[in-house]
Amino acid sequence: AKSVHRGTFQVFEARMDEDVRRRRALEQDLRGALDRGEFEVHYQPQVDLATESIAGFEALVRWHHPARGLVDPGCFIPVAEETGLIVRLGAWVLEQACAAAARWPVPVRVAVNLSPVQFITPGLPEAVAAALEGSGLAPERLELEITESVRLIDNDLNLAVLHRFRDAGIQIALDDFGTGFASLSYLRAFPFNKIKIDRSFVQDLGHDEGCLAIVRAATRLARDLGMETIAEGVETPLQVLQLRQFGCTVGQGFLFGRPVADGEVALMLGAAALD
Ligand code: C2E
Ligand code: CA
Ligand code: CA
Ligand code: CA
Repeated sequence: AKSVHRGTFQVFEARMDEDVRRRRALEQDLRGALDRGEFEVHYQPQVDLATESIAGFEALVRWHHPARGLVDPGCFIPVAEETGLIVRLGAWVLEQACAAAARWPVPVRVAVNLSPVQFITPGLPEAVAAALEGSGLAPERLELEITESVRLIDNDLNLAVLHRFRDAGIQIALDDFGTGFASLSYLRAFPFNKIKIDRSFVQDLGHDEGCLAIVRAATRLARDLGMETIAEGVETPLQVLQLRQFGCTVGQGFLFGRPVADGEVALMLGAAALD
């Protein structure tokens, strides 16, 4: 029996080694990826549910790995965060996104994801200011998406940075609402412009009474606090009907469009203008 256990453990150990090796390799590749120009920013439309016109686009980073092909951000963002690479990558995404949005018709906004790591590293206000100044984009057309993270809003310094952004006219959205630990205290601590209801709640709207109740309550709560709501992961017309009924103002999801390269955004905006 002892030898059997030992064998199992060796297999387990070998697999751990393999995981560690793969991760190290990824980390190594990630380090030079920005300088090699392997990243690209894609844009997914955010649609005004009342008028069905495009209100903005969310910037989503893509990594074209020379050997592995397209690597999912869900896989490399955590590694970039652990290694601190997210700070340079995040600044680059901001720059790209603002430059792209500066070429879009005026009311159309761009939403950029910020990592909590960017907040705890000095230089974020400067990076945001540089992206705006470099592109000439009006601050009102930039939206920053932040997720609920335990330490973010407990910290006075971070709170001050967020207030500085808002005072400058930048929009602030609370991303993935409902999935974090501190949703309600977050809403009390900072006056967000927008709450972004997580995809997991939107997906089950049609066939789960619980989800229906949560989305309805979240929309109501946002409205009472003077905030807008955006639903992510909208895939069906039925979801749109329900979201509209609840007073949700904006929707984003495959129903309206997948994330596309900058060049295709102009086509999408052109098509919307022809409607
Ligand atoms: P997120 O901020 O929640 O972004 C939305 C994700 O949902 C995107 O995945 C998008 O492609 C996907 N999505 C949009 N509509 C639908 C839909 O109708 N159905 C389904 N099933 N999925 C939909 P993506 O691009 O793979 O990004 C994953 C996550 O990576 C993002 O989640 C965000 O947390 C992170 N991320 C992406 N770009 C950046 C970035 O530039 N900076 C930072 N810090 N994080 C980023
Ligand atoms: Ca987001
Ligand atoms: Ca989200
Ligand atoms: Ca999400």
